[in-house]
Amino acid sequence: MNQEELFKNLISHCKEYGFIFPSSEIYDGLAAVYDYGQLGVLLKNNIRDYWWRSMVQLHENIVGIDAAIFMHPTVWKASGHVDAFNDPLIDNKDSKKRYRADQLIEEHLQKIQDKIDKEIDKAAKRFGETFNRQLFIETNARVVEYKQKLNSLHARYNKAMNENNLAELKAIIEEEKIVCPISGTCNWTDVRQFNLMFSTQIGSVSNESDTIYLRPETAQGIFVNFLNVYKTGRMKVPFGIAQTGKAFRNEIVARQFIFRMREFEQMEMQFFVKPGDELQWFDYWKKIRLEWHKALGIPDEYYRYHDHEKLAHYANAATDIEFRFPFGFKELEGIHSRTDFDLSAHQQYSGKKLQYFDAENNESYVPYVIETSIGLDRMFLAVLSYAYNEEKLNDGTQRIVLRIPYILAPIKVAILPLVKRDGMPEKASEIMKMLQPYFYCQYDEKDTIGRRYRRQDAIGTPLCVTIDQVTLEQDIVTVRHRDTMKQDNVHLSELKNYIYQMVAIEPTLEKLNQYAGIFA
Ligand code: ATP
Repeated sequence: MNQEELFKNLISHCKEYGFIFPSSEIYDGLAAVYDYGQLGVLLKNNIRDYWWRSMVQLHENIVGIDAAIFMHPTVWKASGHVDAFNDPLIDNKDSKKRYRADQLIEEHLQKIQDKIDKEIDKAAKRFGETFNRQLFIETNARVVEYKQKLNSLHARYNKAMNENNLAELKAIIEEEKIVCPISGTCNWTDVRQFNLMFSTQIGSVSNESDTIYLRPETAQGIFVNFLNVYKTGRMKVPFGIAQTGKAFRNEIVARQFIFRMREFEQMEMQFFVKPGDELQWFDYWKKIRLEWHKALGIPDEYYRYHDHEKLAHYANAATDIEFRFPFGFKELEGIHSRTDFDLSAHQQYSGKKLQYFDAENNESYVPYVIETSIGLDRMFLAVLSYAYNEEKLNDGTQRIVLRIPYILAPIKVAILPLVKRDGMPEKASEIMKMLQPYFYCQYDEKDTIGRRYRRQDAIGTPLCVTIDQVTLEQDIVTVRHRDTMKQDNVHLSELKNYIYQMVAIEPTLEKLNQYAGIFA
């Protein structure tokens, strides 16, 4: 099965098992908006909790806030979003489909890169061990030609983007004969700028000044509270403020399920440092954040850094942690060194001093900022696209299993009486009562035990506790593991601890805590 089919199956699986539903589905849904179902909400809460506790609980110099979604409209003027939070859009006149001009060009550039990679792979196979990669890239006529084209197109595209030259973007699309994937034609409209912020009116009288925006990022709620937190929390630089919450972007092309949505949730942390120390802290957070991902046990080859060559005018370093989604490596999290851009802008627009007083050196300054920013929904998709597996078992049967990291799994334990008689359901209920205060449990007595295991595999439950005759006689249950399908006998007096060791978040936090500080 190819990745595309697998991804389709994952999307239907998410719906069938109550993870994600299209929004307002009885009215045929709303594009790029989704609702989380009974299991989805638990998984989402667990991811958020893992992030929050790694940031706020493990770092004594990071505190959390929960700012409102609505903010003073000038915030978005100062942040640059009113003037510059735009995407260049273009329509195909034949298919009437809308695209982001920058994405069309970037996909085209990627195709040229793919051609280069293909030539190199072919040659590597042909020459075997004697293959000199660098020499081949420098001398093979076809590769050299592709490379030249790629470089000059890249430069032209970057210049057009930096100068906001929309006519030039259109010229590139036309000259490169980039076609609409639906109509196959090159019949394009002009490129226009489109602001991604949703606006609405506040209060009952409507005039210009009442226009407010749904926040397109949570970060600004942190910047405008910098002084409040610094003063009331008696914080000392370096320190951080973390926040999770909804953000809204009127994305032109929203696709790939929950990868790009119009309403989504972010988990962001802004770390305030002394000017001059920012690149050292940037490296620190780059490493810490990757460790956070890896601690989940998803193999290393799913992650890579993508350092930005083209930086936003206010940034002096930026990198993405990319994840290998079924549709390729894509940004999962951004780590940005934002200098003092935001605080200085708010200082200018608000007229309030947003400075830190360094008592040791008796000086005041506007701190520099390192930001870590990850989409909760995108992380959800990363976890599920790794977890979803269609497996052939040794006995020839098939199972769908969600290999969700145990600490994130929505239901931790299934409680399964072997049969529906002989006092087993009663005993199972007692065990359920014992475990419920500690773990999310699901009771199931319907169908054969094999079928019940399959149902739990399909929702990613790490452990199934089976109650049988031995349980009635000796207080011993069998615990079956989702990934290995191996079974252990466990005495009831040990059960809670046994499960805790397997599924609790704390041992992972303990592991992560060893990293905190060591890169600094
Ligand atoms: P992209 O290039 O994918 O549009 P971005 O660079 O605009 O993302 P940021 O503004 O840095 O993204 O936002 C930080 C994080 O928020 C991203 O890494 C991503 O995980 C998440 N995110 C951004 N836009 C969306 C969206 N429309 N839907 C879901 N998650 C999003």
